[in-house]
Amino acid sequence: MRPLLSIEQYRQSILERIPEPRPVTVPLDTAYGCVLAGRLASPHDLPAFPSSAMDGYAVRSADIAAAAEGVPVSLQIEGEVRMGSAPHAEVLEGRAVAVPTGGMLPEGADTVVPVEECRVEGGAVWFCVPSRPGRNVRPAGEDLLAGELVVEAGRRVEAADLGALAAAGFAEVAVYRTPRVVVFSTGNELVEGGGDTGPGQIHESNSFMLRALVRRAGCEATYAGRVPDDPGALLRALEAAPPGDVLLCSGGVSAGRDDPVRRAFEGREEVGCVQVSVQPGRPQAFGVFRDKPFFGLPGNPMASLVSFELFVRPALKKMMGLPPTVDYLNATLDGALEAAPASVRFVPVRLTESGPQLIACSREQRRSNQLAKLAQSDGMAEVPPGAGLNAGEPVRVLSIREW
Ligand code: AMP
Ligand code: MG
Repeated sequence: MRPLLSIEQYRQSILERIPEPRPVTVPLDTAYGCVLAGRLASPHDLPAFPSSAMDGYAVRSADIAAAAEGVPVSLQIEGEVRMGSAPHAEVLEGRAVAVPTGGMLPEGADTVVPVEECRVEGGAVWFCVPSRPGRNVRPAGEDLLAGELVVEAGRRVEAADLGALAAAGFAEVAVYRTPRVVVFSTGNELVEGGGDTGPGQIHESNSFMLRALVRRAGCEATYAGRVPDDPGALLRALEAAPPGDVLLCSGGVSAGRDDPVRRAFEGREEVGCVQVSVQPGRPQAFGVFRDKPFFGLPGNPMASLVSFELFVRPALKKMMGLPPTVDYLNATLDGALEAAPASVRFVPVRLTESGPQLIACSREQRRSNQLAKLAQSDGMAEVPPGAGLNAGEPVRVLSIREW
């Protein structure tokens, strides 16, 4: 009899065998989606120099303090600041220097008067209103001072983070590498590539769903193909796997006569087959094969999906440098859900928003092979073992779509 483990026990046993990730330094452009391995502080003030926030004239505010409607003040124009260059001159008393948005503020000036407020005549510019010190000036270090945090460690790099890191001058960053997952399917009945199926055959579908789940988790996925129900063929396929960090196989883990994962690893150390008190998803296999984590998920699509979320995704998160949690949504049930005897049961539900609440609606009992029904759902509601859940009760839901 194979051991029966709780969901948490099994997940823990998997996580214990996933080594802590090691940081690698990558060009900034390839860091998108990866988790930063260290906190990154700005090596200098950002912006590094004071600049103009408007197209206008850089002046000394004191020079135009007396300007008023009907009593204009004129200053002599002393050339213009060019983008990307240091100002050619400082702003002396009685002078103004034209400056574009983002142009470096010349020495001496403490304010920029927008062109819309100026009248230019010959070599002079006229002002009818004063401009307070600091107006339209972006001081150096306004965004960040040297040594201040740009992006925190442990954060998954998003577009704005990349922008901020590039702006602070980082060309490369230390991240945890995104795992590449190699997906296999097992089963003599599986037909690949669409088209017709013969008697007893079905279209292979788990590889599509699992690759998408892997990508949704932020990792890379490749498909290594279908393996027949033959333990030798499975071992050969795993040995010849395309480059990757994780082996993810569906089907063939239960106690059936032909189940290749169970038969391939029976009596061997590296991969263990267990039973987990979850429905669907009871038979599971996990181990380390040729230094790579190997997951054998049950083939039923719904069981594959639930097992991925409960066991594979947390492991991938650990490899990516994230906390290895399972993320649940909190919802309220709109109808009763029966419990499974001695197992945590997952039931597909639709989710709807009702004010601040999420309502989980289960419309009917479904078997774990009903993939089309799964596609019409938004998540899998978790029913703990026991008396079941009643309408109006809170329920945790594994989300299968973005919410
Ligand atoms: P197994 O886990 O191999 O006993 O398979 C359980 C059920 O899932 C069977 O009905 C299989 O035909 C089905 N199944 C297994 N693998 C796949 C797959 N890759 N795509 C679609 N259905 C599958
Ligand atoms: Mg099978």
